Amino acid sequence: MPTSNLRIGTGFDIHRLVPNRQLRLGGVTIPFALGLEGHSDGDALIHAVIDALLGAANLGDIGMLFPPGQVKTKDLNSAVMINKVMELLAEKGFQIVNVDTNVICQNPKLSVHYGAIKTSLAELLSLGEDCVSVKAKTAEELGEIGAGKAIAVQAVALLQRLD
Ligand code: MG
Repeated sequence: MPTSNLRIGTGFDIHRLVPNRQLRLGGVTIPFALGLEGHSDGDALIHAVIDALLGAANLGDIGMLFPPGQVKTKDLNSAVMINKVMELLAEKGFQIVNVDTNVICQNPKLSVHYGAIKTSLAELLSLGEDCVSVKAKTAEELGEIGAGKAIAVQAVALLQRLD
């Protein structure tokens, strides 16, 4: 039977946009009137990447690792969460090959922040920036995301197991 050391995983997250919160995406603070609601810092981009990594490694999901509603995860910096996931991947002998993401967001315009977000994610993932892709699109003003009430993120990650 053919075997491969490659493992692929997908992640998704969605958070409401609310007043009186910083907008954090990929570990970067984006200037905007609204921010993402959440028990942690609400960084939906990091959360989707975490679920893609955990999925590829077959290690469960972000809610199992960081149960929402716990005091220790209140306002938790998502960078701390992804650092923990990086430790788990290393323990299991996995190395990240690349990560690709789609941020679905009506406002603000994110293309001007691609560089900063890629730099931040690449550092968090110990990857070259050529292995981290960040893309954004609007929802064409359709539905709740299109009305500016939420931001959603899709992520895919490829891992290789080092034997
Ligand atoms: Mg989340």
